[in-house]
Amino acid sequence: MCGVFGIHAPERDVARLAYFGLYALQHRGQESAGIAVSEEGRLTALRDLGLVAQVFDERSLSGLHGELAIGHTRYSTTGGNAWANSQPLVHHGRARTVAIGHNGNLVNAGELRASLGKPLGSSSDSEVIAALVADDERPLLEALPAAMGRLEGAATVVGLAEGRLFAFRDAHGFRPLVLGWLGDDPVLASETCALDLLGATFEREVRPGELVVAGDGGVESLQALEPAPRGALCIFEFFYLARPDTRLSGVEVHGARVRMGERLAAEAPVEADLVLPIPDSGTPAAIGFARATGIPFSEGLIKNRYVGRTFIQPEQGMREQGIRMKFNPLAEVAGKRLVIVDDSIVRGSTTRQIVQMLFDAGAAEVHVRISSPPVVGPCFYGIDLASEDELIAAGSTVAEVREAIGATSLAYLSLEGLQASTRRPADALCRACLTHEYPTRVPAEAAKHRFEAPTAATRPART
Ligand code: SF4
Repeated sequence: MCGVFGIHAPERDVARLAYFGLYALQHRGQESAGIAVSEEGRLTALRDLGLVAQVFDERSLSGLHGELAIGHTRYSTTGGNAWANSQPLVHHGRARTVAIGHNGNLVNAGELRASLGKPLGSSSDSEVIAALVADDERPLLEALPAAMGRLEGAATVVGLAEGRLFAFRDAHGFRPLVLGWLGDDPVLASETCALDLLGATFEREVRPGELVVAGDGGVESLQALEPAPRGALCIFEFFYLARPDTRLSGVEVHGARVRMGERLAAEAPVEADLVLPIPDSGTPAAIGFARATGIPFSEGLIKNRYVGRTFIQPEQGMREQGIRMKFNPLAEVAGKRLVIVDDSIVRGSTTRQIVQMLFDAGAAEVHVRISSPPVVGPCFYGIDLASEDELIAAGSTVAEVREAIGATSLAYLSLEGLQASTRRPADALCRACLTHEYPTRVPAEAAKHRFEAPTAATRPART
């Protein structure tokens, strides 16, 4: 889960525009943020751990000049949360210097790393992409399609090289990327919400396998790779990851999530007094569930929206409070039959704690409704779900999951119901973590820290 942004605008403050673009994409990654600019072909990058507003201030932004900028917000899926893995990554190769921001996960990163025959400065799979382009001595417009052709898995990429901005999507189109215009200047972003914040107009989605290059000569588009016969835009983007005001494949995400809640109400109705969302990702589906059933919607659970990366560990007694760092129930739940609606259950520990918290607050019944089917497999394409043995629904029945989370009842939205709610055909979306039907070969080794030397943080814990 990462956000990427790119702009070519010689007459504007591109670093500031990238900052605001990233600000709109903060939900896609909160571990690190960075901006790289190109000024007459010279690259400068500033990146660090933290939120966009923590990494950049007026002073640091005013030091970033250029005609072109790219930006990145990161949530780690390959390589740990370390400064060296924050992006944009800059790689100095035999042919050129390349800055890159990558959303997605490669399934052949190990093979590609080995083929480079040199060590890399980071343990993420993204620097491999930069190295392939940077070491290729052919012209940039030949090196880029050649690199794209060697990548397997998910790669939505923005980059800078030789005074040009480039952006591409892998042939499956796992992760979104849109092209828009700020006046006459091209803007690329993971989601349309970044264009909206800048006041840029949306032109279109970058196609799977398409390469877009922008520079002083204008914008060129090249269908560098044949698109995969079946599209594979991630269905998790629809029910969890993308911002509700974003439009994915022409569909507003909020509306799709409300429809998921309405379908869920039709598939798994229940008699209750209040419908509560697990904020924020469960909110649109809870609105849909309440609308369809006529059961009053209640905020019920108040979320502290300022809990981000915590640098200060709570002391032991507070740690046991666990979920109260994030949520607190309102008194009105006491004595009520509640329906709580969330977008998904992954490991189940948060849901179990919330159910317990609501019973502790006096709820008479807690019915859990999930606006997606059970997550039964890991993701190899850029969402850090968990390994299969950590997924509560893998190898368990719905009744067993209900028991584990301690709910009065539990129901998931069917795959058909989810698909219909997106208004996209089944052959346009990846649904592999729900069905085990992976659209690419699956890597034998996919551990997040596989390219890191063992350290105290990455060594398996002693048992
Ligand atoms: S496996 Fe699941 S999370 Fe990963 S890209 Fe496919 S649908 Fe999305």
